[in-house]
Amino acid sequence: MFDHFDTDADAILEEQIRICEIAAPTGQESARGAYVAEALVSLGLDVHQDQVGNVIAEHALGAGHPIVLSAHLDTVFGPEQSVRVARPGEGNPYRAGEPVPADEYHAPGISDAAAGLVAMLSIARTLQRTPQASHVIYVATVGEEGRGDLRGARHFFESDLGRSARAFITIDHSDPAAIVNSGIGSRRYNVQYRSGGGHSWAHFGRYNPAFALAAAADRLADIRVPRSPRTSYNVGVVQGGETVNAIPALAQMDIDLRSESPGQLDSLDEDVREIIERGHKRELGRRSGGALDPIVNRIGERPGGVTPADSPLVLAGRRALEAEELKPRLIAASTDANAAIAAGVPAVAMSWGGRSDNQHSVREWFDPTDRSRSLRVITRMLLDLAQT
Ligand SMILES: [Zn+2]
Repeated sequence: MFDHFDTDADAILEEQIRICEIAAPTGQESARGAYVAEALVSLGLDVHQDQVGNVIAEHALGAGHPIVLSAHLDTVFGPEQSVRVARPGEGNPYRAGEPVPADEYHAPGISDAAAGLVAMLSIARTLQRTPQASHVIYVATVGEEGRGDLRGARHFFESDLGRSARAFITIDHSDPAAIVNSGIGSRRYNVQYRSGGGHSWAHFGRYNPAFALAAAADRLADIRVPRSPRTSYNVGVVQGGETVNAIPALAQMDIDLRSESPGQLDSLDEDVREIIERGHKRELGRRSGGALDPIVNRIGERPGGVTPADSPLVLAGRRALEAEELKPRLIAASTDANAAIAAGVPAVAMSWGGRSDNQHSVREWFDPTDRSRSLRVITRMLLDLAQT
């Protein structure tokens, strides 16, 4: 039955291109969702879309505690971005017209996650021919990327169906030998220092939000974080002020905090909140008048967590990779699996296979060579898990 992945390789590639060319910015996934829903209906599955737009395909005679196979619908690109796929030999519009190399397909989103979605559909078609099929359901999620903040996966794991799942596999990375069993948690804040403003000369000496922000940012830069568990912070956006000769009414920055360890993320979070307050106090201590309290808005939160290396799901992944002569590696990433792990459902992210790179940029490309091996890996995992 695994032969289908090779004999259907051209059809799989054409479907991947079709999916890629249906634009699906985060929050605007409905056209692509409709395509995926129709493909799953044609397999005889019971398909519906939930309130947020996730496409969910179940069996009429499904078993309890399903195994969930998933991929996300959305891409990081806006609606203005062309998503036409450039084929081998064609002039590449994403690289100043230079010819696309043999076997490569170039387009924003061609791998992340058109390759994940087509893998899910191809595996569903193959599994439907087996008696184990009734143990597996399929979910194409909305809002995985950036601003989406795992919106679709979170919603799914708030439902009875999601919480009843015994395992969750999302197809969402490029490394054929890797199992993502560790979800990197992240928190994002928009920090606003504010004042009543004023003239740079006439009101000199009043609280200046730009100095408060600078004091805080400088202290942030001094935070020491462990290499393991890997932890990071970033000031990504700094904005504010009206003109050169006015005290700014507002100075703001967006901060991104990440860690492989939920405990580390909590302690980094505490340090950062204290530093934000200290930046304010520092400036208060230097000036008189004009200050307003800083505002901290949370603009993102992804729960972190780990599916243990000795869990049945990770062990099934290892066996499947070894059966395909790949040496398993456990790695950390931030995917829909984070939301599953936070809900207590064992979860991993597996590879869409082939070769690919430059995800989240317009120079993204995909080469389907050996893709079938990664599709077999995931199918083996599902068959293995369905038996237990
Ligand atoms: Zn992705």
